[in-house]
Formats: sequence, C-alpha cells, structure tokens
Amino acid sequence: MSPVYLDNNATTRVDPAVVGAMLPFFTEQFGNPSSMHAYGASVAEAVRKARQQLQALIGAGFEDEIIFTSGGTESDSTAILSALEVMPGRKEIVTSAVEHPAVLKLCAHLEKTRGVKVHIIPVDHHGRLDLDAYRTALTPQVAIVSIMWANNETGTIFPVVELADLAREVGALFHTDAVQAVGRLPVELKSTAIDMLSLSAHKLHGPKGIGALYVRRGVRFSSMIKGGHQERDRRAGTENTPGIVGLGMAAELALKFMDETKRIKWLRDRLENGIIQRIPNTSINGDPQERLPNTANIGFEGIEGDAIPIVLSRLGIACSAGSACASGSLEPSHVLIAMNAACGAVRFSLSRDNGEDDVDRVLEVLPAITEKLRAVPSAGLCGRGAEQLHSGPGPSGTIADAHSGAVRSSST
Ligand code: PLP
Repeated sequence: MSPVYLDNNATTRVDPAVVGAMLPFFTEQFGNPSSMHAYGASVAEAVRKARQQLQALIGAGFEDEIIFTSGGTESDSTAILSALEVMPGRKEIVTSAVEHPAVLKLCAHLEKTRGVKVHIIPVDHHGRLDLDAYRTALTPQVAIVSIMWANNETGTIFPVVELADLAREVGALFHTDAVQAVGRLPVELKSTAIDMLSLSAHKLHGPKGIGALYVRRGVRFSSMIKGGHQERDRRAGTENTPGIVGLGMAAELALKFMDETKRIKWLRDRLENGIIQRIPNTSINGDPQERLPNTANIGFEGIEGDAIPIVLSRLGIACSAGSACASGSLEPSHVLIAMNAACGAVRFSLSRDNGEDDVDRVLEVLPAITEKLRAVPSAGLCGRGAEQLHSGPGPSGTIADAHSGAVRSSST
C-alpha cells in the first residue's frame, strides 16, 4: 500500500522542478551574488528572477518590496520588531488568540521584556475574529497589527484586507502572517493596505529554510539582522541562493497550478463529508465558509487528538493532531482552546500531490479505527489522564500503539 501524505500544512513535498532549478546553484553557479565578476553576476540575475517570480505570486507592486529571509518565523519577527523600532512613540501591538507561536511567543516576550502592551483579540467557536474587540483595540498607540491570513490548524481565513484598512485609519502598520495562504489563495497585495506579509517556501512545494517578507514601498523599516548590505541593507548575510531560486520556482509553479485549488477543495470536501457521514459524533472545526480549500480539522467526540494520527501513521497515512485539553500526551492547542472546541481533533491537509485514492484510503480505514478507540476502555479517550491512556493493554497492535507514542501536533 503506498503511503498517503495528508500533512501539507506542516510541510509540502519539494516539487522536482524546484529541485532541478536549485541544483546548479550548489555546483557551477556557486558565485556570491554581491561579487562584481561574472560568477556573481549570473547568480545575482537568478536572485532577481526569483524576486520577480514571487512578486507575481503575491501581486506586489515592485520587486524590491520583497526581502528574502530564512522563513516564516524570521519574517514575522522582523515585521513586528521593525514596526516597534520605527514608531518609538507607539508601544502597543494588536494580534489574535490563534496566531502561530512565531507571533504569539514574540509578543509575550516583548510584553515581558520591553513593557509593550499586547491586545490579543479573541475568536468565536468557528475561529472567526471578534471584530468589535478588534475595533476597540485599535488606537493611535498601536504600532503594528499582526493578524494571520489563514490559520494553520483550522484553515479559517481572516478578512485581512478589511482589517488592514481599519488599522490604517489609526496610523498603525498592518502585518499578516500569510505562511498558509500564499500559494493556496489568490493574493494581490498592490490593491490592499497590507504593509507587510510573511511567507515560507516549504508550505508551497519549495525548500525549507527560505521565505520572504513583503514590505510595501514607503513603509519605514528597520532590519533585524545587522551586518552586510544584502537585500538593500534590510537583511544582512550572504544570500541562500539555492533556496531563493527554489522559492522563485515554487512561486511560479504555485501560480501556474492555482486552478488546482478547485480539485483540492473537492477532495477535502469529499474527505470531510465522508467522515461526517460514516462516523457518528464528528464535527468540523473552523469557519464553514471562509476556510483554506486544503484543510480539514475534524473533532472526534470522546477520542484524544493524538490517538487517531498514531494509528493512521502505522497504516502509512500521515496527518496531525490537535487537542483542546491537557489530558493526553499532546500539548493542548491554543487555537482549539481559543475556539472552545471539543477536546481532540485531527488535521488532514492536502496539496496538489493528493488524489482521490488518498482520500478514499482514509475513509476506508477510519470508521473501524474510531469504533475501536471508542469501544476500548483504555484507548485514547478524551478526558482520561495520560497515565491511564498509556498503561492499559490495547486490543490490537495498532490501537495499543495509540498509547505509546507522541505524534506531531498541528501547531506547525
Ligand atoms: N506561521 C504559520 C502560520 C505557520 O504555519 C508556520 C509554520 O508552520 C510558520 C509561521 C513558521 O514558518 P517557518 O517554518 O518557515 O519558520
């Protein structure tokens, strides 16, 4: 049975065309793009091409609005720290309760170490932002708003274009972590008030360790990494040229395959509907309408989040877990807690690599797995302590495995 990969919000397979584009930059195209000679010039030209490929994907007005970074985490940090530095009179940040730790942990750190006030806007049961609380938090003291474009765990999409307009009214900068959105949703930045946007190559079939920060022309900016003059003095350090070329090619392919989104959504809906129809007491977490087309986050009443992914993993099916309570072996998910969701949830996230066979395989095995987990007293039942979960003998190898190993949570 061939393996089934349904964890594309954690990372995606690098497209072979991306690998092909990168390879020469490990061998004959080894020059430093800052060098004056021919070795440098051809590599500098490749970096420029990648910037243009990315500009096309995100609809940026100018190629120099793109700064290459090491990924989504660095881009998020850079955007927030820059805003605080260029607006020293403003000491507040507005963000949401369901941001990635790349934003939330930095905000918590800034609150503790620099006395910055952080407004964390709550979400409702579907993961939608509380707009009244958002409007109330927006004052002339706010330096930056950082609200994600789409949530990594549930796929819920935020109305970032409207949120950016509101931020602009009080003179705050607007940053969006679009790591899960770019390549999966059409993005056209030049017609919006979004000032900064983070993206990461490994979520769109590109390599790991490379990403970008979009900074609108005219927005004051302070670099986080100080040193050489690379990236027009906005991100020091010799460029990761194979990574940049790979990100450029991944962006070009994402644009080319944007229509695939319809097929991916059809597959995702088939998976969700199949699960809901076949398995009782299941529910979908996230906004019923405004959701990434590739993401299904499903709550299985009475089953710990990690039990199902562990059993599926033994059958060659990769997905990830989330939990809204601390009774199992998983760290509780701040996203599910903020949504007041049921205890355990499983995230299936698809990509253009997936087909009907992948979805049908899950639908074939999942009903029996959930039935067994619910029937066995020691199985991964929500609300039990971790000790109980891990001590009882299971009825079969695979269910017993559900008690013995940790599984990747969907916080990626
Ligand atoms: N933001 C979101 C929403 C993510 O899903 C991730 C990765 O999982 C990141 C930021 C971090 O990106 P990177 O892994 O490129 O640092």
